Amino acid sequence: MQGTRYVLEVQPRIPERIERLAELADDLFYSWDRGVRGLFRRLDSALWDACNHNPKVFLRRVAQKRLEEAAQDRVFLEDYRRVLSAYETYLQEQVQSDVGLLFDPQRDLVAYFCAEFGFHESLPVYSGGLGILAGDHCKAASDLGLPFVAVGLLYRQGYFTQTIDAHGNQVAHYHPTDFGDLPLHPATDAEGRELCIRVELPGRTVCVRVWTGRAGRIRVVFLDTDLPQNSEADRRITYQLYGGDENTRIQQEIVLGIGGVRALRALGLTPTVWHLNEGHAAFAVLERCREQVEAGLDFDAALELVAAGTVFTTHTPVPAGHDVFDHGLFRGYFEDFAARLGIPMDRLLALGASPANQGGFNMTALALRGSRFHNGVSRIHGRVASSMEGYVWPQIPHEENPIGHVTNGIHLPTFLARQWAGLFDMHFGAEWRSELLDEAYWQRIDSIPDYTFWSTHQLLKAELLAELGERVRAQHRRNGLSEAHIRRLTRHLNPDRTDILLLGFARRFATYKRATLLFQDPARLARILKDPERPAVIVFAGKAHPRDLPGQELIRTIHEYAMRPEFEGHIVLVENYDLALARALVTGVDVWVNTPEHPLEASGTSGMKAGVNGVLNLSVLDGWWAEGFDGTNGWGITPHAPHYDLAHRNREEGQELLDLLEEEVVPLYYHRDGHGYSPGWVRMAKASMRTLIPRFNAQRMVMDYVLQHYGPANLQARTLAEDGAAPARELAAWKARVIAAWPKVRARRLDPPPARLYNGEVLPIRVAVDLAGLAPEDVVVECLIGTERADGTVETRQRFPFRPLEERTEEGEAVYALDLTPTLPGLQVYRLRLHPYHRLMSHPLELGCMLWL
Ligand SMILES: *Cc1c(COP(=O)(O)O)cnc(C)c1O
Repeated sequence: MQGTRYVLEVQPRIPERIERLAELADDLFYSWDRGVRGLFRRLDSALWDACNHNPKVFLRRVAQKRLEEAAQDRVFLEDYRRVLSAYETYLQEQVQSDVGLLFDPQRDLVAYFCAEFGFHESLPVYSGGLGILAGDHCKAASDLGLPFVAVGLLYRQGYFTQTIDAHGNQVAHYHPTDFGDLPLHPATDAEGRELCIRVELPGRTVCVRVWTGRAGRIRVVFLDTDLPQNSEADRRITYQLYGGDENTRIQQEIVLGIGGVRALRALGLTPTVWHLNEGHAAFAVLERCREQVEAGLDFDAALELVAAGTVFTTHTPVPAGHDVFDHGLFRGYFEDFAARLGIPMDRLLALGASPANQGGFNMTALALRGSRFHNGVSRIHGRVASSMEGYVWPQIPHEENPIGHVTNGIHLPTFLARQWAGLFDMHFGAEWRSELLDEAYWQRIDSIPDYTFWSTHQLLKAELLAELGERVRAQHRRNGLSEAHIRRLTRHLNPDRTDILLLGFARRFATYKRATLLFQDPARLARILKDPERPAVIVFAGKAHPRDLPGQELIRTIHEYAMRPEFEGHIVLVENYDLALARALVTGVDVWVNTPEHPLEASGTSGMKAGVNGVLNLSVLDGWWAEGFDGTNGWGITPHAPHYDLAHRNREEGQELLDLLEEEVVPLYYHRDGHGYSPGWVRMAKASMRTLIPRFNAQRMVMDYVLQHYGPANLQARTLAEDGAAPARELAAWKARVIAAWPKVRARRLDPPPARLYNGEVLPIRVAVDLAGLAPEDVVVECLIGTERADGTVETRQRFPFRPLEERTEEGEAVYALDLTPTLPGLQVYRLRLHPYHRLMSHPLELGCMLWL
């Protein structure tokens, strides 16, 4: 008998001189500030790693003696004071001027909803790109001083950690998080009691706890249902990120969307702009409509008011990334809600209707119909989303519908290695931190001496090699491999040998990312990697969703190649890709490889992280890289058109990848001058930093949102809310009238169309419109002038509006006139069309109605 084991954690007392360490541990500012993290690391770096870089846990476990010593250590104290003073300055910093013009922090607030947030590995509520993007968005909002609050779910189990066994199988491990370890606190009401908000589920209400925290200058709000008041089943709603079945999913989204709005209200916050980052939180739209309906507005006016202040970003063209709930399931959850909205269930279902999902309620469709500002996340993805979601504006040509794009960006302070930041400080002074939006400023990268540039990267590479060596050895020992075998497998992970070309591929193992494209021709790949004069090593890392079996098969395939004798040591598979490993990889490899199937990579962000660190991208020209690549800053693989079958595309693109590797990447890397580095490589790496830093950082992204969406949405929502929402009612009533009349509207041209016109001549065009009861000013008639493309489509070059005349035709039609003076020379095409117009609309084509003559 061993008896009961009692666990006791003896916590140190933090000496007064360094007591504000606790404050630093309690602000997610640490997730991007290396100064703050450096303080903890210096106290005890082994413990820091063992605590998964979680400052609160670290402060509970660190030895009293270490704290006492630090409190007496002059150098430590000096650093401590410097970090604190930088923190205080940061909190007081001036708001970026454009933000200050558009947003009054006393009055305006952006609420940002997302199902996952990737701030830092110590807050494991993210799974991949979407979450990390959301974390970066918040960090940049804080940097810019935008009034901003983030809303998400606090998952007990977060995302899994991954091990890979001796057969290449992914093993998922779930660790429940102790919320007391996080820099979050339960919100309390006026009496100091824990705030608990309620959401209705069929036959019951569920209590939701509200956690709040700080991330620099913004607030974060997280929700969880793991409370004793709830049934066992309801406690598990927020248990796992993207876990459970359809019911879990809709319940999570109800908690996030509906609960999220209620939590903000309970906290006394009044957002003026609501950003739905992906469709998961779209129920927020319904909840805000309910508030308006219960305050006396009819549903249509409420929807106009709510949508005017809502921004929606869609993140993937992959259908599985869009939630669709079966109508039967949806009805069960929203029967009462429809009644509270004052609309029949069919009307509610119509808000989530999409042609590809008959009988399903599509959250993307709801988000689009419940917002007036929408975008994809790169130029290509904006176009793809416009056509994928074009059904929302059925008569509008896809390229003109209201879906635009804001290309993603990454948070530079988070992902730029501290060695580069230090080098910039030395060469440019601290000012570079406030020049992230200025492309001209970054020309000065070229002034860094080549040798310094090269050796800075070598340092980072050595750190990475050391870390990879440790990780991979531990991984193989656990799997029972012999030491001799392990030595062979890790022989190139040697921090003293940084002159071997190192390539990295790390991402979620989803099949469209084609992790195995490199293996199209294994014999040729082996020849390239094992060239005795010019060897190369490829490191792979990534998790597959536990239900994504094809994704897990990719891991097994890579594992199998890594174990083949001909690839031993040249292909390395390292487990548990997370933010910490990502930071090391994107700063330490030489080349970042990305091989998505065009056009499915909506944006991709890991390549940006690499590129700003001078790591060269070797990637398919899809997503962000189609915008970032300029011929001098990396390599682009030309995607084949989607109508080719996938096997053909894989063969062709895989071949181009190996061609580039063999003919350009390897020779350039090994073309060393007398000083031991490759000048051509340095030139390219500098071009990568210089061109990518100012264009793909998260401040640029958030400023794009501010200027294109947040600012206009803020104004639009305010305008529609004036006079007890009279403008919202007016707009809703007008839309109802137009939608009823539009199918009966007819138009015809009155003048005979001439075939030729001489330069300088005027062409008077007259159009008669049977308005079916609408007023002449309800409709815009316009003339589009363009040229025909080779494929027969027309590229619009100019656009001219008609003016309504007083006169009517005998049949009572309204007459519109345009005296056209063509300014384009030669053959051209002109087309006439009409669409409804109202001054209160957010986008001229938002109604989706159009009629061509
Ligand atoms: C950046 C990042 C991602 C997203 O990378 P993609 O290029 O979009 O695939 C996923 N996981 C982690 C840990 C990251 O740091």
